[in-house]
Amino acid sequence: MISIIGAGPIGSYCAYLLAKKGFEVNIFEEHPKAGLPIQCTGIVTKRLFKYVPKSKEFVVNHFNKVQVVAPDNSFAEIPLEEYLLDRTRFDNYLLNKAVDAGANIHFNHRFKGFQNNKAIIKTKNGLISNKADYFVGADGPTSKVAKSAGLYNNREFLVGMQAIVRGNFNKNTFTTFFGNKVAPNFFAWVVPESRTTARVGLATKRSTNNYFQYFLRALKFQPIEYQGGLIPIYNSKQRVKKGNVFLIGDAAALTKATTGGGLLSGLESSGILSDCIVNNKDYAKQIKKPHYQLLVHNLIRKKLNNFEDKEYIMLINQIKQKKIKKLFANNCREFPSKLLFKLVLAEPKLIKFLF
Ligand SMILES: Cc1cc2nc3c(=O)[nH]c(=O)nc-3n(C[C@H](O)[C@H](O)[C@H](O)COP(=O)(O)OP(=O)(O)OC[C@H]3O[C@@H](n4cnc5c(N)ncnc54)[C@H](O)[C@@H]3O)c2cc1C
Repeated sequence: MISIIGAGPIGSYCAYLLAKKGFEVNIFEEHPKAGLPIQCTGIVTKRLFKYVPKSKEFVVNHFNKVQVVAPDNSFAEIPLEEYLLDRTRFDNYLLNKAVDAGANIHFNHRFKGFQNNKAIIKTKNGLISNKADYFVGADGPTSKVAKSAGLYNNREFLVGMQAIVRGNFNKNTFTTFFGNKVAPNFFAWVVPESRTTARVGLATKRSTNNYFQYFLRALKFQPIEYQGGLIPIYNSKQRVKKGNVFLIGDAAALTKATTGGGLLSGLESSGILSDCIVNNKDYAKQIKKPHYQLLVHNLIRKKLNNFEDKEYIMLINQIKQKKIKKLFANNCREFPSKLLFKLVLAEPKLIKFLF
């Protein structure tokens, strides 16, 4: 018997994989339905389709270019192949797959903590206790499961704020804005859903709303809806297992420090955990593989966080070169170690940005 806390994409995908293997799986979700509220931009690389088939059911747009804007408004355009998800539809797609495979979903069930090796769950009719062979925390960045199992660590977060806006957009290009006045320690984005609507946002460690309102005003956007959430910063010391409690996705802080993306590393963690449960392998050991790439993302982020605006301008100027663009276009950013190595070989001047 397996209890998964959280019907986000990562919990549902894990439930699907385990139910498919014949395990009895219960998913406990605190909300009355999956996929709401939206706390994500929803950009993914084509690597998503390693986990789920490409479908118009949840892919709402695709991109062939990113425009990277420097603090002096100079910019580089890099070709790429990326996709935009409707998170509500994506989360429901994965949950339906889990339910079709035999998992049970319990909405309006909030995990409160562990007591005598049982999960205490708050329902509309009061508290219940749940016994299971495995408990899986897929309950997002501030994971109650991690807290109550003593796996939380000293987490750090970025605060992300986003708005849906109307305007005129180049549908297949999204734009990122770098600079210490725009979004210190991260970046801002304009990601078109269509020719007429876009997801506009940024993340910072503090004063996020001030930066966000300034950004919206500067670009003269009128929001029609606000969204937002926390992005946990990956920490290599994060423990992901204690006894029969396991953490996956944002609950384990498995996000890329360069972009804040957590969907692909989260889905990967679901795959690794289900394989470990099915084949009796050590999850803490197996999860080390994706950790290596996440560490490289952390190193790049640490370097970028020390950049002054003039260094962003210089770096983006270097990226304009044809050979550099080609490398970005041909190498998946899910594997930054490979990309960095090739970039430095192609343009040794980039070394000074790294060291
Ligand atoms: C502003 C912003 C933009 C982002 N953009 C991107 C992007 O473009 N690409 C990308 O890959 N990633 C992005 N991310 C990160 C991405 O959203 C997360 O990595 C992803 O949602 C993680 O999925 P999850 O299932 O682990 O957690 P979540 O999506 O947080 O799901 C957790 C689930 O657990 C439930 N839950 C929580 N506590 C309890 C409880 N006590 N009891 C029961 N249920 C509970 C919640 O209701 C929720 O359904 C972004 C994040 C933010 C904040």
